[in-house]
Amino acid sequence: MLELADLTDQQIKDFWATANPKNWGPDDCWIWSGRRNCVNNPIAVFNGKTYYAQNVAFYLAQGFVMAKPVLHRCKFIQCCNPNHLSVHVD
Ligand SMILES: [Zn+2]
Repeated sequence: MLELADLTDQQIKDFWATANPKNWGPDDCWIWSGRRNCVNNPIAVFNGKTYYAQNVAFYLAQGFVMAKPVLHRCKFIQCCNPNHLSVHVD
């Protein structure tokens, strides 16, 4: 899993700039402006590894590693606003 310590400040800054390129507000959907995979999921590449952008957004915002997939509460697959993401809890 992604280790926050492996990311430089510049990588984190670039990630948020890609997640929220138009400086949308905290309640808006943040539409990922970076790469997407073959089924249109937003992806981010760090240090040669590919991650779902929403997982990285949640991780950077919450500061912990997800054992479960990150879900969109807004149901918008491109959204990377951490306020719209959650982890399913049984
Ligand atoms: Zn959203």
